[in-house]
Amino acid sequence: MGKQKKRLGIFSLTSCDGCQITFLDMDEDFLDLLDNYEVIDFPLIKDGTNLFEEVDIAFVEGTPVNDEEIKTLQKIRKLSKKLVAFGTCATFGGVTAIKDFSDDKIKKEIKKDNEYLNLHDNIKGIGDIVKVDAYIRGCPPTKFEIKNLLQTFLDGKEIEHRKSPVCIECRKNGNPCFLKEGIACMGSITYSGCDSICINNKFPCYGCRGPVEKANADSLFLVLKNKIGMNDKEVKNMFMLYAGTNKRYSNLIKNG
Ligand code: SF4
Ligand code: SF4
Ligand code: SF4
Repeated sequence: MGKQKKRLGIFSLTSCDGCQITFLDMDEDFLDLLDNYEVIDFPLIKDGTNLFEEVDIAFVEGTPVNDEEIKTLQKIRKLSKKLVAFGTCATFGGVTAIKDFSDDKIKKEIKKDNEYLNLHDNIKGIGDIVKVDAYIRGCPPTKFEIKNLLQTFLDGKEIEHRKSPVCIECRKNGNPCFLKEGIACMGSITYSGCDSICINNKFPCYGCRGPVEKANADSLFLVLKNKIGMNDKEVKNMFMLYAGTNKRYSNLIKNG
């Protein structure tokens, strides 16, 4: 008799599908994981999205933006032994939450243009709505983290979360520092795990993985304003881009 495979569900709420694409980017590693996992749901490549069958582990991409999607998320939670917030939209609301930081006039226009969606005014990460067992951050996450998490789950171990910021990876990779060159970079407060991929390729970090636990966001906020010379709006825009709903960031965005 063949070994019993774990049932994996990949679910998608409001999103760009980019997190799901990372699964396909795993190449042979994706085929290898099929030795141990049966993929029940995968809306990007399988017909019949969100089948709502019981799964051992659910990856939820995207953000619930209305009542209907919140009910979908709650249903997924009930059917899943473990639930993973998959990507920055799922973790913080991500780019979908940017609208909530707009002024009232823009908010009204967004609502009017999307009336049929009944959009909520207060987009949240899914961990504020249901219990989340593990987070994989990033816009999109890295394929290595998907592989590691699925292996950790097979081994029955707890997922360990990182504490160090992107700067640590960046220094190890020998990059010159953008801040020293007077260019804004959020690596010092951003959760590592991407191997500082943007900086390695000559782009500063825009904080797509959200803050580390002890992020000194206030200090970077002042550095960007006083040393880099960004104005208040530019700095706030940078903080709201991916993880604006995080308390540390939202306080700064609202109160400066
Ligand atoms: S986290 Fe990024 S890649 Fe993933 S769904 Fe959201 S916008 Fe797309
Ligand atoms: S370039 Fe950015 S990530 Fe690299 S050390 Fe400087 S602040 Fe940190
Ligand atoms: S360097 Fe920053 S913006 Fe780029 S992938 Fe890493 S966390 Fe995201």
